[in-house]
Amino acid sequence: MDEAVGTDVGVDESVGTDEARVGIRVDRDRCASTGLCALFSPEFFDQSETDGRVLPRARDAALGALPALRAAAARCPAEAITVVAPSGRGERRQMPD
Ligand code: SF4
Repeated sequence: MDEAVGTDVGVDESVGTDEARVGIRVDRDRCASTGLCALFSPEFFDQSETDGRVLPRARDAALGALPALRAAAARCPAEAITVVAPSGRGERRQMPD
């Protein structure tokens, strides 16, 4: 896959329902092309063969994927991955000052 999918994703329209989903948002401008997300979480992320930047495989995921997505966001050295929990709050790794 070499085409960005939902890089502006983040709105979870199923909030408050039994089908709550976790939104996956990536900022390709921030991406440092490390490939860590695609290496550790290939079910959610791919890496462009053109520029090496992240390509999300989906706009959202089942609620059970939240821990894995949080881990991916925490692992990203560029803070390029934001996980949007069903509460609607975006979560991104906070870099130390
Ligand atoms: S871990 Fe972060 S910097 Fe590395 S490829 Fe994924 S989004 Fe880009």
